[in-house]
Amino acid sequence: MTLDSTWVRAWIERTAEVVTAERHALSELDRQIGDGDHGENLARGFAAVRERMTELPDDAPPAVVVRLVATTLISTVGGAAGPLLGTAYLKAAAALGEARELDSDSVVSLLTAARDGIVLRGKADSGDKTMVDAWTPAVEAATESAGAGADPAAVLRSAADAAALGAASTEPLVARKGRASYLGDRAVGHRDPGAQSSSLIITAAADTAAESTKES
Ligand code: ADP
Ligand code: MG
Repeated sequence: MTLDSTWVRAWIERTAEVVTAERHALSELDRQIGDGDHGENLARGFAAVRERMTELPDDAPPAVVVRLVATTLISTVGGAAGPLLGTAYLKAAAALGEARELDSDSVVSLLTAARDGIVLRGKADSGDKTMVDAWTPAVEAATESAGAGADPAAVLRSAADAAALGAASTEPLVARKGRASYLGDRAVGHRDPGAQSSSLIITAAADTAAESTKES
């Protein structure tokens, strides 16, 4: 079983729906330890992505769709998250290359490139209470799952489960990057909004992959 550009579009559409539905919750997390705009930032960015995606030809390869997400987020999402996630999608697109079908190893490459892009851009380490704390466990779980022979949908499910745990793991941490780092101990007890939204993004990938598998 492989995933194709229909899945990529479904993933991005689902992401747009989920971040829109969760925008108040994400902004509330950001109100606790930041400036309260994270949900609105992402909802605005993905609304623009959705609109621009309609201009792509039906047969656009996965990398072209992912690159459109990158450039749209970079140009429409202010704040830290826009350039960080933009770089993630840009690096993911580069990792996809010309591929039309994604197997388990391509899914691992996509997730790894996205995480590496975020780290390249933001220089956060694991445990700094950022979105990296969702992406890195996701990459590790995906790598292990693909190594054990899992299909792409199962690889993404293990990544999503790990990302959700990773997002929750930010709650007791002191932040060492971004606005939350100005708060010192006062950030303790609050979940990082970017880790939460990254968990939603990876879960949308897993949910849509599960549906693609059912249909094929
Ligand atoms: P801003 O902080 O500019 O208002 P957002 O609210 O949209 O931007 O995004 C905040 C999120 O960005 C944080 O929750 C955190 O996950 C992420 N973030 C901030 N700085 C970094 C960084 N250097 N590396 C990785 N992620 C970061
Ligand atoms: Mg903010």
